[in-house]
Amino acid sequence: MILPGATIGILGGGQLGRMLALAAAPLGYRVHVYAPDAELVAGDVAAAVTRAAWDDAAALDRFAAAVDVITYEFENVPVATVERLAALKPVRPGVAALRVAQDRMIEKRFVAGLGGRPAPFAAVDSLAGLHAALADVGTPAILKTRRLGYDGKGQVRIGSADEAGAAWAAVAGAPCVLEGYVAFAAEFSILVARCPGGAEVHYPAAENVHRGGILSESHVPAGAAVAACMAEATALTVRIADALDYVGVLACEFFACAEGPLFNEMAPRVHNSGHWTQDGALTSQFEQHVRAICGLPLGPVTMRVPRVRMENLLGDTADRWPALLADPAAKLHLYGKSEAAEGRKMGHVNFL
Ligand code: ADP
Ligand code: MG
Repeated sequence: MILPGATIGILGGGQLGRMLALAAAPLGYRVHVYAPDAELVAGDVAAAVTRAAWDDAAALDRFAAAVDVITYEFENVPVATVERLAALKPVRPGVAALRVAQDRMIEKRFVAGLGGRPAPFAAVDSLAGLHAALADVGTPAILKTRRLGYDGKGQVRIGSADEAGAAWAAVAGAPCVLEGYVAFAAEFSILVARCPGGAEVHYPAAENVHRGGILSESHVPAGAAVAACMAEATALTVRIADALDYVGVLACEFFACAEGPLFNEMAPRVHNSGHWTQDGALTSQFEQHVRAICGLPLGPVTMRVPRVRMENLLGDTADRWPALLADPAAKLHLYGKSEAAEGRKMGHVNFL
């Protein structure tokens, strides 16, 4: 158990780290943020910050010496970085979850091995391979880079086989996975939190609306199509957490279909679709993650209100903040980022 008063090290300096740090404070923990980025919105609310490269061995060793437990808010921290740190201090969730989540092929095979059902998929390493995969998976399909994709980046929609050449050029020869396009009724996510001893809680499913590959809104409780898939998806998410001996909050995204839930992807961290819990649940996903990685008892996941709608504030839509502050049903969360680039996550609002 990592007792209050201890220091939590967070790898990654974005808004998820910022909200983790804000949730750690009332439980009496200090936070030390480590990331290479020029702007660290997590660092703005942390007791200590190390701005250094992921492969700076001396900086990593100093960081490990300064903290009691290490977590990550970003799933593309290099595995070698986490392995070095894990030899020095507990890293929760561990490196196994990162390895799986960093590669869409490994992730799909792993989940299929646990009885999950991804959309039809095939590995693609060449243009000839893409043609073969299209014959296998069919069209429409989506070509996704195996690694480093987020917010719909690194993805190309393929309507018919004659678009293969353009799609392969668009991913610039990166190793990919081709996925059949799913005509889903709805999208949703399941968040579970798991303790070192294996104790688990899960939140009510969030129904998610994406626009242009980026999460736009989450609704809780979810609608009927999601409700019909929830039990199977939750059971799978728990199996994934158990198989990885996972510690912390784990998010899995699903497509709700007539034949049941199809697994889309997992995130070994707190998740944008769980932001509703900050104002809509008795324990936020951020507090829950802190409790789990510190080995504290998990908190209740019960809703505080009958319904919540979380809306992301992307780019200059965050300029709406004065109207949101005036709305008694709206709880505003801004991330303190300096550049409101188009599509960039600048904040979110929970409507209760
Ligand atoms: P990211 O890592 O960018 O979140 P996802 O694989 O979750 O990548 O894709 C982003 C969004 O694109 C999904 O939430 C969904 O709306 C859409 N999408 C992705 N894959 C498929 C698919 N196979 N069929 C239909 N829509 C998809
Ligand atoms: Mg996704």
